[in-house]
Amino acid sequence: MNNVSDFEILFDHQTMASGTIPTDCACPATQPVPQSRDLTPATRLQHQPALRSIKLTPTHRVAFVPSLSWITVVNQATWALLERLQTPYTLADLNEDEQVAAQQLYALGLLHASDDAPHSPPAHELVAWLHVTNACNLRCTYCYIDKTAEAMTTTTGITAIDTILRSAQQYGYRSVQLKYAGGEASLNLPLVVEMHRYAQAQAHAAGIALRGVLLSNGVGLSHAQLQTVRDLGVLLMISLDGPPQFHDAQRPRNGGQGSFHAVVASIEGAQALDMPLTVSVTVTGASVAGLPTLVAWLLERDIHFALNFYRPTPASADRSELQLDEQRLIAGMRAAYAVIEGHLPRYSLLGCLLDRAHLGAPHHHVCGVGEHYMVIDHHGHVAKCQMEIGHAVGTIWDADPLHLIRSDRIGIQNVPVEAKADCHTCVWQHWCAGGCPVATWRATGHFDLKSPNCAIYQALYPEVIRLEGLRLLQWADRS
Ligand code: SF4
Ligand code: SF4
Repeated sequence: MNNVSDFEILFDHQTMASGTIPTDCACPATQPVPQSRDLTPATRLQHQPALRSIKLTPTHRVAFVPSLSWITVVNQATWALLERLQTPYTLADLNEDEQVAAQQLYALGLLHASDDAPHSPPAHELVAWLHVTNACNLRCTYCYIDKTAEAMTTTTGITAIDTILRSAQQYGYRSVQLKYAGGEASLNLPLVVEMHRYAQAQAHAAGIALRGVLLSNGVGLSHAQLQTVRDLGVLLMISLDGPPQFHDAQRPRNGGQGSFHAVVASIEGAQALDMPLTVSVTVTGASVAGLPTLVAWLLERDIHFALNFYRPTPASADRSELQLDEQRLIAGMRAAYAVIEGHLPRYSLLGCLLDRAHLGAPHHHVCGVGEHYMVIDHHGHVAKCQMEIGHAVGTIWDADPLHLIRSDRIGIQNVPVEAKADCHTCVWQHWCAGGCPVATWRATGHFDLKSPNCAIYQALYPEVIRLEGLRLLQWADRS
């Protein structure tokens, strides 16, 4: 917050500084960069035509420009200034306090300037999914992996790292994220350690920033395994879909028994070790009723989480209980949001409460598929998306597998939101980006249509913004 005389402006400093909304989910996020500049006295400022607000309290409201600005809480004096700036003013027309506030509101995207230059394209991170094993000890109802006992070998794993880092250098990426997955990645943890240690050394030598995530079902991770993951410096992401009856129904063990208690034991073990941890929640038609209880449990323990919607797979398509009934989904999500409102966390909610949406981080594509994302299976085949892992476009032994991904016109196509029917006129387009292309393809047979979850997104976007506003009001730095 900047407490500028009587102007109060609250926003998430941490997110603003890093330029990214934390999004801890299996899919690769876009990486927008904040863009601002110093204004001159002659710069004419005006509020963005699509400026909106939602009243939070008698004295504060959340102000935002859909698909463009940062989510910002303002007091009455600041809102009055924004309204006055419906008419353009030069910076010199404003008094000293107003100028400071206006600079801030401009940086947050609530005002535009007469001499704005077109934004340069955002920097991106290269993300790689490493399918270190095809084995799993669970049989989740919505799983898209045709499981076997096969695992990635050391030779394939090390070659995969070389290929990823070579691609990063070739295409000018400054940062790389490795997602160790499967199957159940912890079943091949020694290889994960070997690969990540090697990647750390190679990335350091190449001047590339590196981060890693271990995607795990969390079943029975031992203390020693958790310590290994912590010492490796990778984020642990564990899947938990609800209280026991809901989680166990959709994430049973190989033999049919429930997995809930083993997952909770791993979560508690990770917390005892003070490890960076995120819980990934797959919300289905069957589990949404348990979501408020799960969210309350996670918030009580101060565990970061991300809510993602079920995407039908060929194997799960005829399971009617998993389908996302719009009204039931919206009601269940609203019930979970009510729980969050009663227990607002310190961390930003913008990238984790609504499937693939990143509110506050404008982007043209929903994910990095087809451009900034490589999926490498246990045999070294390279695919475009983990949900299409069987559809390889190349291998890690090809000279330039990222080029093969970028030039593929047969498999999944990640079209920009402006090219999707209905989306190009939607106010939410650059926060939503039209939803997962795989889900849209499977529902409609097209890539250039809006998401099958569009009605759910449209109903819930304002509620997520309101929740983030309340969170800022409670927790934003007022120093
Ligand atoms: S999917 Fe719906 S909410 Fe998302 S951009 Fe398209 S029209 Fe808008
Ligand atoms: S296409 Fe869909 S499932 Fe694949 S990475 Fe993108 S959002 Fe995720």
